[in-house]
Amino acid sequence: MQDQNPTCPIHEGIYLQQRPTKCGPVWRCPITGCTVRWWGAKDTTPCDYQTAQARKAAHAVIDPIWQRYHMSRASLYRRMKRDLGVEHIGLCDIATCEKIIEWAKKL
Ligand SMILES: [Zn+2]
Repeated sequence: MQDQNPTCPIHEGIYLQQRPTKCGPVWRCPITGCTVRWWGAKDTTPCDYQTAQARKAAHAVIDPIWQRYHMSRASLYRRMKRDLGVEHIGLCDIATCEKIIEWAKKL
């Protein structure tokens, strides 16, 4: 992990810029219209458009499960962490999102 600011995976050489938010600092690409967001945790992937879509797809599969089975969201996420080592969909790359979707289908 480098100490310097991460660069945008779409716009080569453009450094992401840190902004404070309610949920902590977020790094954003300064190019207008670029959807890259990075939340600074060590193992996150900067979020380009495809990654955002994959995360949305994973949420679309996961969220109805805990709603349907009246399971608490926290307990489903605990199970996901135990089985996949994943705590937050918002921090996943595309491959991990696909794993979550496969995992959720088997629940
Ligand atoms: Zn960008």
